[in-house]
Amino acid sequence: NTLEKAQSLCSSLGSAAFPLQNFISNTYNTSTSTEYLDSHNPKTGKIFSRVPISSAEEVDRAVQDATEAFAGWSKTTRAVRSACLGKITKLIEENRELFAVWESIDQGKTLERARIEVDRAISNFSYFSTYILHEENTVRMIDNVALTYEHRSPAGVFALISPWNMPLYLLTWKIAPCIAFGCTAVAKPSEVTSISAFLLTEVFRRASLPAGVVNMVFGNGATTGSALVKHDKIKGISFTGGTATGIQIRKDTAHQIYKHLSLELGGKNPTLIFEDVDMEKAIATAAMAAFENQGEICLCGSRIYVQKSIYATFVTQFTAHVAEKYQVGQRIGAVVSLPHYQKIRSYLALAEDEKAVFELGSLPPSTPENGYWIAPTILTSVSPTSRIMTEEIFGPVVTIYPFEDEAEAVSLANGNPNGLAAVLLTKDGARIRRVGEKIEAGLVWVNCWLVRELGTGFGGMKNSGTGREGGAFSREVFTNLRTLHVPD
Ligand code: NAD
Repeated sequence: NTLEKAQSLCSSLGSAAFPLQNFISNTYNTSTSTEYLDSHNPKTGKIFSRVPISSAEEVDRAVQDATEAFAGWSKTTRAVRSACLGKITKLIEENRELFAVWESIDQGKTLERARIEVDRAISNFSYFSTYILHEENTVRMIDNVALTYEHRSPAGVFALISPWNMPLYLLTWKIAPCIAFGCTAVAKPSEVTSISAFLLTEVFRRASLPAGVVNMVFGNGATTGSALVKHDKIKGISFTGGTATGIQIRKDTAHQIYKHLSLELGGKNPTLIFEDVDMEKAIATAAMAAFENQGEICLCGSRIYVQKSIYATFVTQFTAHVAEKYQVGQRIGAVVSLPHYQKIRSYLALAEDEKAVFELGSLPPSTPENGYWIAPTILTSVSPTSRIMTEEIFGPVVTIYPFEDEAEAVSLANGNPNGLAAVLLTKDGARIRRVGEKIEAGLVWVNCWLVRELGTGFGGMKNSGTGREGGAFSREVFTNLRTLHVPD
């Protein structure tokens, strides 16, 4: 079976290209397509698996099966669905290390980071398994005229599409609420990191999830993802990925007005550091926000703004801290792929052209030899209008720029088309509200980063997305609401 095969492959890594298979109605199907993509281990650059590019016909088959399964699954009780999610939670827990090892091999992240993400995937299932048991609906009686109540029903078959940076965690953030609220799914992980999704299918099979409730198709965006989002039986799309793809999905589905759309897109997030901070804590938080998962988290703070009075001290101490604590191969993993390595490198070449100061790091070689490694890079003397400062690099690269006062800090933070997340570091309680409530971002972390509570709204403002997910927000995504008015 899949989990055991994966286990044995751990020891013979690199010896064979492990071909993935679609999972449709709880059976593994060798893709009829002849096209495959090679999947590389970013830490060595060697191929270790092959990802089929599923055709529109294969996507159609998965959607048809998910549609048939919806008829039964949408009528199950919450207790039945909760129990199913509970079994899935337990099975991932039992295979925690296996998932972590493979995620680390496939994505390039460190094993420690992969373990954190597997734990968060476990929380996604355990959270929604209990959420549905306690959800409440609004019932009102106004002036004895009519009893008014909200009735929700599962919205249908969903396309669940995820990116490559936190593969298991982000895909389960979609699958868990989707099936908890009674919908069925055709999921497609990123073609760059498909292994953990493949392992997850074996968990669904072992958990005896009814056939067709979750189907997994592998493939790229242009063929597989595109066919999936356009399918007319797909009633909703929960997508996490780049803003350009989000725009394409909106265009491709503009005429299908019935489709629920949840789009979690890119970021270029600011970290604001005021002069009253505890310097040591501020440095640790800003460094973690910049370099965790080698900067490949949509929520990473890649634009650091520091109040002028402490700017010079901050740059020196921050650079020393990162040089010591974020060593390549220890806390910094490899970046996900060769194209991504080249993309990050192109921004560093631009930094050289624009005469930015490399406080730490340098231009990596144009052709990497043993894996896709990029050292943490700290840049100063970058113009706020430079592409380095305005575009999402999505790697271990951070800029530091000074500001005078609160007004300038807010204006610099908001001077970007994205609005996903921000970090605000200050001890001043009044300032926390004054500045925090003006920042154009869906998530503002005050004196912390990446703290999450799964019931709160997750998502971005501006070009960073449409809608929110988490707790009742996910219920909004995956259910249809009708309000009934019943007079006496
Ligand atoms: P991407 O948009 O290239 O791909 C994401 C997914 O979409 C992949 O599975 C891909 O195959 C699929 N896809 C591509 N074109 C498609 C199409 N036309 N129709 C349907 N599906 C299509 O993004 P990526 O490079 O994999 O991921 C990096 C991006 O994801 C960054 O911009 C990052 O900020 C963003 N991201 C956002 C969040 C968030 O929560 N807001 C979280 C993680 C990553």
